[in-house]
Amino acid sequence: MEKIYKIAEEAKNLNVKRMKLSWTKFTTGFDFGIEEANKKNLEFYKDEKKYKEIIKMEDKVEDKMDKRRIEILKNDFEPYHLSDKLNKITLKIQNLTNKLSSVLNNFRFKIDGKEVTSVEIYDILNSSDDRNLRKKAFLSRNQINKKLVDEGFIDLVDLRKEFAEEFGANDYVDYKLSRQELSSEIFDNWENEVREALPEIRKINNKMNKKYLNVEEIKPWDMSYISSQIAPKLNEKVEMSKYYETINKFMNKFGINLDNYNIVYDIFPRKNKSEWGYNFPIETGKDSRILANVKNKFNEYGVLLHESGHGIHFYELNPEEIILNRGVSGIISEGIANLFGSFLTEPIFYKNIIGDSKKIREQFANIKNWRNIQTILNITGILFDQKLYQNNIQDINDIHDVYWNNYKSLLKKEPYAENPVWGYRIHHTTHPIYLHNYFMGTVTNKMIKQVFCKKHNIEKITEKPKEFWSFVKDNIIRPSGKYKYNELFKRISGEDFSLKYLKNDID
Ligand SMILES: [Zn+2]
Repeated sequence: MEKIYKIAEEAKNLNVKRMKLSWTKFTTGFDFGIEEANKKNLEFYKDEKKYKEIIKMEDKVEDKMDKRRIEILKNDFEPYHLSDKLNKITLKIQNLTNKLSSVLNNFRFKIDGKEVTSVEIYDILNSSDDRNLRKKAFLSRNQINKKLVDEGFIDLVDLRKEFAEEFGANDYVDYKLSRQELSSEIFDNWENEVREALPEIRKINNKMNKKYLNVEEIKPWDMSYISSQIAPKLNEKVEMSKYYETINKFMNKFGINLDNYNIVYDIFPRKNKSEWGYNFPIETGKDSRILANVKNKFNEYGVLLHESGHGIHFYELNPEEIILNRGVSGIISEGIANLFGSFLTEPIFYKNIIGDSKKIREQFANIKNWRNIQTILNITGILFDQKLYQNNIQDINDIHDVYWNNYKSLLKKEPYAENPVWGYRIHHTTHPIYLHNYFMGTVTNKMIKQVFCKKHNIEKITEKPKEFWSFVKDNIIRPSGKYKYNELFKRISGEDFSLKYLKNDID
């Protein structure tokens, strides 16, 4: 295995370099040679000698974990050894993705001709009583669709389709899932699950509409506003300059000390900086960086908690296990991040920031309930992303048809505008077939919380935060590279993955 570790070490170093370049680009807009790094990366992976070494070891190794290590590497190297055409397409895909990510990072939306940041849009959607302004803010996000398509988004989708065909996969969705060690069968019944949930969602939405809006029909630009009406405390002004101390104080309750990790935070908006939230796990156990965009509202802590969750997760992996660490599922990664994000509305987190009272508890219990019921609607976005690769797309109107057909079929609602909001979601460009990770991560969290509470005979995991964190480390984080996601899920729950855990409201 010595030779194999050497290959993995080299792969790791290449990745560290690429991720550092990417961090610079996403935080400043400067590109110091990403295309060059992509080329080097391709040269490395397509090297036949290395691949042969991995294949040779496939039959040779006896140890179960070594077998798993070889399986992970083979999965990563295989696509580079099928045809020269595939490698050419890979490079084209990477470079076009890089170009379009700049388009997204540098684009700024406008309301009534005036530039607004994503934080400002978010703020209007949350708190403006002016429904027309909220509509404008929501729909401003569609301004990027045309630009994205003009710059080559459909070419990117076509290249990905071409890649999947040349690879021999059913379609690009199947290809991407196979690299994530997932089967597309998991999604089989999801459309029905959404449809079955609709009556209950409609019922609660009607109730909220009557109470807070009194309009004919709730529109997408009303959703965050309703959240803020249910729990006005979410929008309380907070002093963000002390964010690090605040988060660390909270983490201490789980036995986590952020000072022990090297996590760099870049959290305020700037020109040419990406408007999303990211964690760049540059080097496991050594260097982790967080990009976010916040200003001064309590609910903005949600993204800081999510990204800090990623940071901590990668520090809890064993840095020596450079091969197994490659096998950590995106579902586990987003799951751990969502787990920390979910503490936003728990007293264990908010008490020190906005205080605690019966009224606050009531507000947050209601908002959690409302959000829980809506969680399943995330499936709409996940399936739209997949359908881009399962339909014929010639121009922007085809994308919009796919969007609206998916929307109508799942939500049984009519279009909310002519030009839907999709392109601003950077995942379609940079992380295709990834969105299921957040949703399945949340389902996984609900399962973990349930298993833990049952074991300790308690109602909330926050009753035993330190024990819970040890449980997560021992049962999820440490074994996470060793087993495929579905195996890991079954090891903890005793059952196959299922959406039934969504209905479980244990915290
Ligand atoms: Zn995340």
